Amino acid sequence: MDVYGLIGNPVGHSLSPPMHEAGYDALGIDARYVTFEPAPDDAARAVEGAAALGVAGLNVTIPFKRDVLAAVDADPLAERIGAVNTVAFPDGGSGTPRGYNTDAAGVTRSFARHDVPLGGRDAVVVGAGGAGRAAAFALADAGADVHVANRTTERAVELAADVPDATGGGLDGLDERVPAADVLVNATSVGMEEDATPVPAELLHGDLAVLDAVYAPIETRLLRDAAAAGATTIGGAWMLLYQGVEAFERWTGEDAPVEEMNAALRAALE
Ligand code: NAP
Repeated sequence: MDVYGLIGNPVGHSLSPPMHEAGYDALGIDARYVTFEPAPDDAARAVEGAAALGVAGLNVTIPFKRDVLAAVDADPLAERIGAVNTVAFPDGGSGTPRGYNTDAAGVTRSFARHDVPLGGRDAVVVGAGGAGRAAAFALADAGADVHVANRTTERAVELAADVPDATGGGLDGLDERVPAADVLVNATSVGMEEDATPVPAELLHGDLAVLDAVYAPIETRLLRDAAAAGATTIGGAWMLLYQGVEAFERWTGEDAPVEEMNAALRAALE
């Protein structure tokens, strides 16, 4: 039996085990997916230990995504984003661990699933943390013109300097940017803990496609406001699904059974 897993701290609430195990079951792969909670400064030891134990693949979440970068041979996209959320262990763990960032594919595949084109489109990413970095690179690589808006302005400006042809600024710039945008991603945690939104409802419009990285609650205030404005709405569960699908495909080399994984994820979210 193969063992896959997630390192994070905390990881108690993770939806990844049922989602991935539904994928293994659908393809007849003899594997289980478990969660591990190393101490916050133990990212490198956790990766080394997993390799030694023959763990087949690891996902990585808060607070380890940046620290794991130093413990793996990271692919160029993960290197540019500055965060790894998926580790593969070549040669049964004897090879150098490989690091990937599948949050970026989580963004682009979510838009593709909803038939939203990205090439040549004006995109606004709200947030410049880990999810914001992944979204900004993913959208730029897909050909969108990206503007990053963040509460802490200098983080947005720094991120925009790393992303091809991107601009960055504070949240006050949303007034001008969102009405002219085709695509909007909320990559802040606003909307998770309380019924709040990072983007005033009056800025939303019917030509917009809105992806909210927040997946709990399933319907955030931003998505409700966007639907009321006639926008295309994409919940964070899609991004969560497709980052998992991309990891599954890198680990197994098989096309992931997307619908089975989606059904398991939705059931676990309820
Ligand atoms: P992070 O690195 O801690 O970044 C948090 C971001 O939220 C920063 O840009 C921060 O702005 C902003 N923020 C926090 N509180 C705010 C407030 N009250 N008003 C305005 N901005 C605020 O976190 P992360 O890893 O990027 O995650 C962000 C969200 O994305 C979380 O809800 C997470 O669950 C979600 N996420 C979802 C997926 C998925 O697959 N669906 C994947 C990754 C993350 P400052 O820079 O000013 O602090």
